[in-house]
Amino acid sequence: MKRIYMDHSATTPVAPEVLAAMLPYFSEKFGNASSLHQSGREARLALEESREEVAGLLGAKPEEIIFTSGGTESDNLALKGIARKNRKRGRHIITTQIEHPAILETCRSLEKEGFIVTYLPVTREGLVDPSALEGAIRPETILISVMHANNEVGTIQPLEEIGRLAAEKEIYFHTDAVQSVGKIPVNVNDLKLDLLSLSAHKLYGPKGAGALYIRKGTKIESIIQGGGHERRLRSGTENISGIVGLAKAAELAGERMAAEGERLTGLRDRLAEQVLGRVKEAWINGSMKRRLPGNLNFGFKYVEGESLLLFLDTKGICVSTGSACSSHKLEPSHVLLSLGLKPEECHGSLRITLGASNTPDEVEYVAESIAEAVERFRGISALGR
Ligand SMILES: *Cc1c(COP(=O)(O)O)cnc(C)c1O
Repeated sequence: MKRIYMDHSATTPVAPEVLAAMLPYFSEKFGNASSLHQSGREARLALEESREEVAGLLGAKPEEIIFTSGGTESDNLALKGIARKNRKRGRHIITTQIEHPAILETCRSLEKEGFIVTYLPVTREGLVDPSALEGAIRPETILISVMHANNEVGTIQPLEEIGRLAAEKEIYFHTDAVQSVGKIPVNVNDLKLDLLSLSAHKLYGPKGAGALYIRKGTKIESIIQGGGHERRLRSGTENISGIVGLAKAAELAGERMAAEGERLTGLRDRLAEQVLGRVKEAWINGSMKRRLPGNLNFGFKYVEGESLLLFLDTKGICVSTGSACSSHKLEPSHVLLSLGLKPEECHGSLRITLGASNTPDEVEYVAESIAEAVERFRGISALGR
């Protein structure tokens, strides 16, 4: 059976051009970027060219990019690195309730170190209210971390306004932009960011590669000690093949973003219309206006998202409920709860995230299949109609 992959927020396949760019760095170009000989210089050159490419996508300077093992490590370095280095200035951090666990769990760990964290709620639309954020700022606030686009509901936060507030009050401003980089324009200067996390495998690059943008002059300390790689901020022999893959993915994303964004928005809106047209008592979680091109998060009354997911899987369709990271838990999604959904409404959710491989025919087939699945499970549910 042909597989229809509509779970691009969980991960994406490596683009053929990305794989081709990476392969030589597993074989003939295997050098260590710290070695002084020819082989090392070749690796160093690839590393520095990659840094320029990634910086270019963000409007940053190459020396402001630190390569990491992915989004989770970038988030840890940003939060722990800033908090620990600036604790004399204050111990208060502001973030939101809808962050990825890479942020939320890092904050919990910082609370154990004596930091105080405010977790801002979001509106029913899944958006942070900048005036509520302004109200949460204290004299001892040292860091604001608000994700750019949410991984479950795809909502895009008003970072420009938040960036202005943070800059006014001279508070470091970080964003987890793992879901937005490569999909919508992200410019660190327009958004007044001091730090930004990204990950290769969410933009058709390899797993295990990512980066943290750190504005020049930012006071931060490392969380991994060793040989002093990456401006002493991230020790460990650089993952050159992964970094080259990330850079190629960034280059392709920059070239394709506008056209692909428009195409995916069209497919997304068509899928929403088809499903909501066929299924009663269904809705979409999160703002449709401030939303990633490929994201839909449906809510269905009287069914379990898990049942729908498994039924769709038998038809070759890959989607998710909540986020991949929490799919093995049965607790309702912390994101949907923060939007104000009741726990039973959270359980009937289905996340569909479109990407490069998806076609209009697939959208039709998936819409039909979802309608069939909901009808079947409502039929056998005690609460069903
Ligand atoms: C996937 C994801 C991460 C984690 O990135 P990894 O590279 O998988 O560690 C962090 N934040 C968000 C919003 C994500 O979607």
